[in-house]
Amino acid sequence: MPELRVTRTKKDTKTSATLSELRVGQVRIPLPNRFPISPERNALKPAGIKDPLPGEVAVLARLGQPDTIKRILTQEDALKSMARFLSRETGADALRLLYFSFLKGANISNADDLKTILDLQYLAGLDLITVQHTPDMSPGDFDAQLGFAERWMDERGVDKPLMPIILATDDGKLAIELVGITAKHGSKAVGLDLRGGFHYHALRAVEDYKKKNPDVWIHALQVPPKIRLSRHPLPCSQGMILPMFGVDSFSRWIVPPPPTPLTKDVINVFDPKGWGSLKKKDFEEIRKNTTNCKCAVCQGKDLEPFYEGKVLDVLARAKVHDHLAQRIELEKTRDSIKEGEFLSLLNSKEYPREFLKQMPSREED
Ligand SMILES: [Zn+2]
Repeated sequence: MPELRVTRTKKDTKTSATLSELRVGQVRIPLPNRFPISPERNALKPAGIKDPLPGEVAVLARLGQPDTIKRILTQEDALKSMARFLSRETGADALRLLYFSFLKGANISNADDLKTILDLQYLAGLDLITVQHTPDMSPGDFDAQLGFAERWMDERGVDKPLMPIILATDDGKLAIELVGITAKHGSKAVGLDLRGGFHYHALRAVEDYKKKNPDVWIHALQVPPKIRLSRHPLPCSQGMILPMFGVDSFSRWIVPPPPTPLTKDVINVFDPKGWGSLKKKDFEEIRKNTTNCKCAVCQGKDLEPFYEGKVLDVLARAKVHDHLAQRIELEKTRDSIKEGEFLSLLNSKEYPREFLKQMPSREED
């Protein structure tokens, strides 16, 4: 098996952030990091960027619409066609894994369905095999599904790392139980599906687990641009603070198209200066008409070219910029952890500082 291994280089002093290296076969990946999902790759062209998106891991993310899932589960042609698309989506240099954002009414409920989804990943030649904990699935059923996937791998002769993906909820006890199930199966890679929210208790459960198991790779999926604390949205970028909870890497959310047409004014754009997610008027007012960004999209220019043209082009630019700019800022994260100073870095950034002030303390858990 291309062995998957996480080696910790350094533990941060005042947070649970760790500086590590993820190795899968010959690939070596610095952590903390951010990895791209399919809609970000699709945004390259409308954003006018020719180079592929940087990312050692590629999350092949799909919206799990009920009819799409049903077709894959029941029609051989649909399954094969999806496998072909998945296999061609990125170059062979990235480690590829499949993720479905299951929408209401879509589910992988029995062993036959799970086997089909596993076969899909096998047919597409993906590098990691994922098993997702879906809404309404009990911890016991999830445990059974992981056992099934292990037997499937043995029977098929699939020699790849298995990554369970657990759903984050606000129930701390459930989160601990789910993490425990992945531990029971000896998982060295664990996905945490944040489902577009800030699930404090699930993050704390993962943090405690990671502290005891620094050799497990924790990847957060479905990370929204901002943080919602007790119904109160903060502009703080959620992805950028996740390392303090022991999360090693993250990728952005995949969301259905909005019901009402989007306007340029409401698009969230990552602010490298304050680590917030800001709208156009904030960049105009607070950032004096600049993105403060040298990424391939912004190129250090002022706001005008960024917000030029069609709404969907601006959205594409925002997606690509967010990825590139956060990858650049994550280099600073890694440098700060090396010095044991991640908390100081967070406090030097306007929006994480605000988040830290409002975050519940552990005593109040
Ligand atoms: Zn940029």
